[in-house]
Amino acid sequence: MASTRSRITTDIDFDQDGYQTGTLRVPHSVDRSAYGHIPIPIAVLKNGDGPTALLTGGNHGDEYEGPIALMKLMQRMPSMKINGRLIVVPALNFPAFLAGRRTSPIDGANLNRIFPGHRDGSVTEMIAHYIDTELFPRADFVFDIHAGGASFDHLPTLLVAPPADEGERRAYRRVVEAFSAPNAMVMDLLGEDRTYGAAIERHGKLFLCGEFGGYATCNPEGLAIVEEGLQRVLAALGICTGGELPPPRHDTRWLRVEGARHYVFAGTRGVFEPAFRLGDEVVAGQLAGRVFDPHAPWSPPVELRFGGDGVAMLVRSFASVEPGDCVALLASRTARQGE
Ligand SMILES: [Zn+2]
Repeated sequence: MASTRSRITTDIDFDQDGYQTGTLRVPHSVDRSAYGHIPIPIAVLKNGDGPTALLTGGNHGDEYEGPIALMKLMQRMPSMKINGRLIVVPALNFPAFLAGRRTSPIDGANLNRIFPGHRDGSVTEMIAHYIDTELFPRADFVFDIHAGGASFDHLPTLLVAPPADEGERRAYRRVVEAFSAPNAMVMDLLGEDRTYGAAIERHGKLFLCGEFGGYATCNPEGLAIVEEGLQRVLAALGICTGGELPPPRHDTRWLRVEGARHYVFAGTRGVFEPAFRLGDEVVAGQLAGRVFDPHAPWSPPVELRFGGDGVAMLVRSFASVEPGDCVALLASRTARQGE
């Protein structure tokens, strides 16, 4: 029978106590390197029989709060006293991360649109398959850290999806409360089910993710939210209880994206002028922005209007737009979720 085991290998022994650093080796035989591989850095710390937290960044290679928070965590890991296991991968789509791009320069793939991946697929498909078959099964809690990337700026927001099961919901509520984000938003990806989040949901694991900045830069405020929130979550999980915890700085505002009416897309090619600011409360019909035609600058711009009421959660960063580009996303204020 053909093997279904990932082609990615590692020098890490996930069952060994103590601190280990190493790589996930993605086979990659190319003109300049016949027997080569792509080494994706990973660190593991294990002690005792507590739960396993899988902490990942760089799912998209142009988002930096996650990778930087996790590289900083790695500096502390050798001296951390824990009960359980930390599996830390700061840059999951490592080729994309090195290139500072959302998608991989090798196969053009977006890791977060390719789950559950493929053992015999392209580099990015192999990475997704490894995460799905080797990392997710080992984890009790998973945190995947995102930001808006090059094309968006995003309000710092925990993306929440309370589980249906009452017992699981209680554990979920505990970690969401411990994280204490300024915004917690129930996302609506309009049916998209090829994401890391959709895959982890199929594994039934406790999962958080979030957006903590944008513009392909590191937002210091977003970074602090990630680092402090993560410390409180690891304490709430009982993995890392020693030391003083940073006090929560936010009363969480609860929000929900409600379908296509909360998205604003460009319908023409041109230059986009936003008519709102990140975090603005807007109403249906309000002007979201204008798109100018660079070839006919004397023509009146095309007006884009919001299709619903809500808080502006993201704004497109690139002024240059094509039909289909998302320029804004709203979310309605809502009652606390998962009660
Ligand atoms: Zn992302």
